[in-house]
Amino acid sequence: MFIETRGNDGQKDTKVEFSYAIMNPSASFGGLYVPENLPKIDLEFLQLATKKNYKEITLDILELFNIDIEKSVLKEAVSLYDNFDNNTPVPLVQIKNDLFVNELYHGPTRAFKDMALQPFGHILSHVAQKQNQDYLILAATSGDTGPATLDTFANKKNIKVACLYPDGGTSDVQRLQMVTEKGKNLKVIGIEGNFDDAQNALKTLLASESFAQELEKQNIKLSAANSVNFGRIIFQIIYHVFAYVSLLKQNRLSLGEKFYQIVPSGNFGNALGAYYAKKMGLPIEKILIASNINNILTDLITKGQYDLRNRELLMTTSPAMDILISSNVERVLFDKYGATRCKEMMEELKNKQFYQLSNGELEELQKDFSAVYCDDTYAKQTIKEFANENYIMDPHTATCLKAYDKLREKNIPSVLCSTAEWTKFAPTMLNAINEDNKKYTDKVALKGISESLHVKIPESINALFEKEILHNKVIDRKEIQKEILEFIK
Ligand SMILES: *Cc1c(COP(=O)(O)O)cnc(C)c1O
Repeated sequence: MFIETRGNDGQKDTKVEFSYAIMNPSASFGGLYVPENLPKIDLEFLQLATKKNYKEITLDILELFNIDIEKSVLKEAVSLYDNFDNNTPVPLVQIKNDLFVNELYHGPTRAFKDMALQPFGHILSHVAQKQNQDYLILAATSGDTGPATLDTFANKKNIKVACLYPDGGTSDVQRLQMVTEKGKNLKVIGIEGNFDDAQNALKTLLASESFAQELEKQNIKLSAANSVNFGRIIFQIIYHVFAYVSLLKQNRLSLGEKFYQIVPSGNFGNALGAYYAKKMGLPIEKILIASNINNILTDLITKGQYDLRNRELLMTTSPAMDILISSNVERVLFDKYGATRCKEMMEELKNKQFYQLSNGELEELQKDFSAVYCDDTYAKQTIKEFANENYIMDPHTATCLKAYDKLREKNIPSVLCSTAEWTKFAPTMLNAINEDNKKYTDKVALKGISESLHVKIPESINALFEKEILHNKVIDRKEIQKEILEFIK
């Protein structure tokens, strides 16, 4: 069963099933749903897992959660991992003696969002069909959630998707992945503003009464596919477990020995998955958080302050981490300090743009997390350094090397999450390799990297440049409600 991070308002049910939590992701007082209890995975589970493949381990963990979705549907959902590049959707690649990369980007849209959104999309559409209810999914994207959401829901029954992206805030490849999407049930809208503007616009819509009334008239319910939706988080626990299983299989450590999990973080969904995996029993020594110069998470974890005052969102070469309001932090605050305190902090953030942990609370947080931030120069140098040694990493993944360099205290293996393929951020890649600041188009940069590093551009990326643009609206935030209502009519 699922409970709420800000406590219950006496109007909603105090506990809900998984299917309810994923279809109706916003809880009382604007809170989020979290599992009442986390299942345990013990060493025996991990030992047995070394004989299993990714899909089997996923089904085992889902079974431990005992969610109200039929096993046959879960099986269909995880079979979507068959469309990923390799037999194993998440290869673990060694890049240093004690450093391994968990490559999470081998899905259809070349970023780790596919890991959760592919199976989640299937489940959501199944529940909607079963209820015989149409749903509108609102998604705000800084570049990777959008393509992955559109891909998973394209032509799915009982689902319509409206996807908001910050115009100019994504790469050409990411934008093309969205605006060339064919499904008739999809609407893609560019917003004048940054990602926080897009996410806030989405939150405002989710809370808007007039919008809700219009939807009701048309008998459409609202849902969301951002990582506030626990249906995504549940799938983000699994690849952390699988990384450990891969380390065991490759004889890099023995059963029960600990490792560092390094996560490049924005909205904190990936890191939350690691936190839950640790709580469930995965031998994680600590979760090392890498942020970029939008270092709000680093400040929280090192100083106990979440301070939006005098802060502006800065554009970096890791745009998927250009976030100041990091939604999933709330789930950790709830887990550590309880609903009353969590609600208090979230209200302080809303009203005063600020909250502060006590020393005791900070100590509690630091038992599980350390954090550091990485600027663009460091990230680009890292990209070049590893390219020289024949490993290509994208600018988000590169921020993790700062965490690897600065935060480890013990001599144990580290796994870092690689969250995107280099092809999504080719201009930055070429700047890093050429050590210049020229403004390349994605097309030129893809070719440049391909030639200088002798690597193939995947067909799906090349094909984007030939496709017809089907969504070309860029609008002011105030126009969003109207635009979406027109689409669903
Ligand atoms: C979404 C994303 C991130 C941030 O992940 P969160 O779960 O939001 O913290 C990092 N890198 C890439 C490439 C992403 O797409």
